[in-house]
Amino acid sequence: MAAFVELRTKAKMPIVGLGTWKSPPGKVKEAVKAAIDAGYRHIDCAYVYQNENEVGEGIQEKIKEKVVKREDLFIVSKLWSTFFEKSLVKKAFQKTLLDLKLDYLDLYLIHWPQGFQAGNEIIPTDPKGKVIMGKSTFLEAWEVMEELVDQGLVKALGVSNFNHFQIERLLNKPGLKHKPVTNQVECHPYLTQEKLIQYCHSKGITITAYSPLGSPDRPHAKPEDPLVLEIPKIKEIAAKHGKTAAQVLIRFHIQRNVAVIPKSVTPSRIQENIQVFDFQLSDEEMAVILSFNRNWRACSVFVAADEEDYPFHAEF
Ligand code: NAP
Repeated sequence: MAAFVELRTKAKMPIVGLGTWKSPPGKVKEAVKAAIDAGYRHIDCAYVYQNENEVGEGIQEKIKEKVVKREDLFIVSKLWSTFFEKSLVKKAFQKTLLDLKLDYLDLYLIHWPQGFQAGNEIIPTDPKGKVIMGKSTFLEAWEVMEELVDQGLVKALGVSNFNHFQIERLLNKPGLKHKPVTNQVECHPYLTQEKLIQYCHSKGITITAYSPLGSPDRPHAKPEDPLVLEIPKIKEIAAKHGKTAAQVLIRFHIQRNVAVIPKSVTPSRIQENIQVFDFQLSDEEMAVILSFNRNWRACSVFVAADEEDYPFHAEF
């Protein structure tokens, strides 16, 4: 099984990457260094994770130590929803690039399809706690992101948390210059995303699976929420292969040609999560894992659910 997912640009996106959401400054630099030492070449970042400066320090140290060259790495970041206005996209991108201490990104994504009011708040709300929507849509932001590609600052563009109607709108945008190469979405046995994956693959758009372990450290997790890492049948399959549940959950994506970005700040787990190329799930095991789907989202607590362009009301 290939260790890369090939993008429509012909670039190779390493199929396993390191997630960095909730990885605290003070820990994330060491996590990035441990990941590069363990063989990771793909790192998933975002402005909104508020740790890109430390991620960049980790990357720089490994480049200085000559463990890797910049061109060996595949670095992804994301434009947050408060920067959709045309005058703000480049500023937001430059901040990310500066913090990551890079001179280009391999992939730049629209993090979330809804635009929020510009300003210092990540999620701007009115006195009643209602999210204040922005004036610009992702289509306007995309035009400036295309300029970043033309300037050589970004190698490819993508989206995240888009449903298929939103992708369709982007693909049908008059004058579209650069098509999205990936849609980064939540995916695991309780949210198998078969229809969205099939749709995206039919359009030459790869899928990157986020929260592959069910995001147990997410804020707002409720005690009654299911634990993906604890699914007995997954543990059973793992034991059969002499692997851990996490490794089976990660391997599941690889066999669907889906990139996967588990997050950890624990060096032993960082290593464990990339040791997934020495075993194969059978067709029956894949079918069993797919049968667990219940369309359950760990990351459903996104705001503005009653506003235009909320992505998760559509079936896919
Ligand atoms: P996740 O990767 O499903 O789970 C991370 C949690 O699992 C952490 O608590 C981590 O603990 C633990 N863990 C990691 N490896 C483990 C192992 N081998 N055994 C047991 N526990 C393990 O959750 P996620 O962070 O939500 O998703 C991964 C990445 O996807 C994010 O970090 C982010 O980069 C991306 N993401 C993107 C979006 C988006 O909107 N585009 C949304 C969510 C996530 P320790 O760190 O303490 O080891």
